Amino acid sequence: MTNPNPLPASDWPELLPGWVWLCGAGPGDPGLLTLHALNALRQADVIVYDALVGAEILNWANPEAERIYAGKRGGKPSAKQRDISLQLVDLAKAGKRVLRLKGGDPFVFGRGGEEGQTLVQNGIPIRIIPGISAGIGGLAYAGIPVTHRDVNQSVTFVTGHDQSGETPSSLNWQAISEGSQVLVIYMGIKHIRPITQALLDAGRPGEEPVAVVTDATTSDQRVLESTLGQLEADLQAAGMSPPAIICVGRSVLMRQALDWLTMLDGTPPRNTDPLGRGRPAEAS
Ligand code: SAH
Repeated sequence: MTNPNPLPASDWPELLPGWVWLCGAGPGDPGLLTLHALNALRQADVIVYDALVGAEILNWANPEAERIYAGKRGGKPSAKQRDISLQLVDLAKAGKRVLRLKGGDPFVFGRGGEEGQTLVQNGIPIRIIPGISAGIGGLAYAGIPVTHRDVNQSVTFVTGHDQSGETPSSLNWQAISEGSQVLVIYMGIKHIRPITQALLDAGRPGEEPVAVVTDATTSDQRVLESTLGQLEADLQAAGMSPPAIICVGRSVLMRQALDWLTMLDGTPPRNTDPLGRGRPAEAS
């Protein structure tokens, strides 16, 4: 029999004084934390966490640990970001074992790169712990496969905010629309009108399926199924608010078969063949 324990206890990395671990906490459900994240939570003296890291996850921390909220929602000016990075530097220089805990994955629209860079520029040793990003795990909790062989061979992750909090003007929506069958949009709710308009102008059809998942993977998760043409009106009617992941593309239809959360109580799937392909193609 092989040992089911992936790492013997003594081999788990030790969070040493003066180090900062930049760690993803996943999209919300504490069960989606990685084992490395848990290992970090148990060792840290100080945890600097974001708005999207839930209390249930912080409950896994060493009870003695100091918790510092560094929440900021929506593209606020980068001065504050600079403050957070410098605070991490100060804490590390004070000899603390520092855990920087971020929602999802620290390197996916999470500014983990900037924080890591400031730390190394200041001579602070770091470790990066990836997490499950909301644009993948959050969609999975809505029964939406981010890639599906009958639908897409590529997926594009897009941010609906730039540093100034505006719709990113540097994005080439035409190219994005033409280049990718499925788009996963982070931070898109606030600018939903210009975003949908840009996609329609670029030739994406008004009937194209869209799903919006708010508070994904938490007990407050809500999912809206709509179309590109109807999205703004449907969102308003539903009164949904951030954090939200928006998925544009036909993979959204797979939810009709794979909405496993709704099926937990025995509710049957709405449609086991939403793409009208008959049985799924055998792996070839
Ligand atoms: N690093 C994070 C993203 C941070 S940007 C990650 O990898 O997931 C913040 C945006 O992420 C939110 O505006 C929203 O678009 C998305 N997001 C994060 N957590 C979410 C959740 N639980 N449900 C829906 N969207 C979420």
